[in-house]
Amino acid sequence: MPTIFEHMVLLSNGVQMPQLGLGTYKMTDPEETVTAVEKAVSQGYRAIDTASIYQNEKEVGDAVRNCGVPREDLFITSKVWNDEQGYDETLRAFERSLTALDMSYLDLYLTHWPVSGSYIDTYRAIERLYDEKLIRATGVSNHHESHLMELFTVANIRPMVNQVELHPMLTQEPLRQFCSDHQIAVTSWSPLARGTLLDDPVLSAIAESHGKTVAQVMIRWHLQHNLIVIPKSVTESRIKENSEVSDFQLSETEMTLIDAMNKDQRTGTDPDTF
Ligand code: NDP
Repeated sequence: MPTIFEHMVLLSNGVQMPQLGLGTYKMTDPEETVTAVEKAVSQGYRAIDTASIYQNEKEVGDAVRNCGVPREDLFITSKVWNDEQGYDETLRAFERSLTALDMSYLDLYLTHWPVSGSYIDTYRAIERLYDEKLIRATGVSNHHESHLMELFTVANIRPMVNQVELHPMLTQEPLRQFCSDHQIAVTSWSPLARGTLLDDPVLSAIAESHGKTVAQVMIRWHLQHNLIVIPKSVTESRIKENSEVSDFQLSETEMTLIDAMNKDQRTGTDPDTF
């Protein structure tokens, strides 16, 4: 049986992206960040999600160089922040990210938010980076169907990934369906709803019946929906816990119960009003 770290999502251009990765938002302490990434890789994680705004690309790069796993066996994602958007600006922002990470290419580069008036030009620059083989896949984040429709009118290459807030309180079913119809893989950000559901009675009962934790049940729910999932933790035991999700399966009834928790409730900002 493949380990959780060998579960891949096939992107529309044939690139394989690990289905479970480590999120790094709010990893601001340099030493803690390097340690968390190194521990994650030593446990088997192969995908790391960062962004220029997280201000930890240097530490992610340091950890990648020290971890003993070849760069080509890792999948590194970064994102262009809102005040870096536009065509030329994005090319420069990418250069800064590569320099901070001290890498020669990225696996995936995303428009962080659809900044009105510039997200189309931002994505066109991402397409150019892809043409120049500086990134292995193109993508966006926080894009609603309307943003994607707008992109489709100019894009030569459709984004391969859309990274959006997604968890049992915000299941995003219509957007997931739209992305699936257009061969766009979906990554769930804040997959644990930033810890706000850890005491939820429905999730707790399911977790207890499997002898697992609520966090593990939530991660399993993402995986069984074929979502890419990037829980963040700086805590070694939790990084490990979040990956121990191969030894149980949620039944259809349990998946439906969790689906029914949807309240269209965000823990973060709405892409229409950010
Ligand atoms: P998560 O839903 O991953 O929750 C992270 C929080 O949960 C942290 O406080 C962490 O604590 C805690 N935690 C992690 N594992 C466990 C566990 N097993 N049991 C209990 N608590 C746990 O939230 P994030 O917002 O960090 O989202 C994940 C990633 O998604 C980000 O790190 C980032 O990479 C990406 N992201 C992208 C955004 C975008 O706009 N594209 C926006 C926001 C996030 P601790 O670290 O102390 O262990």
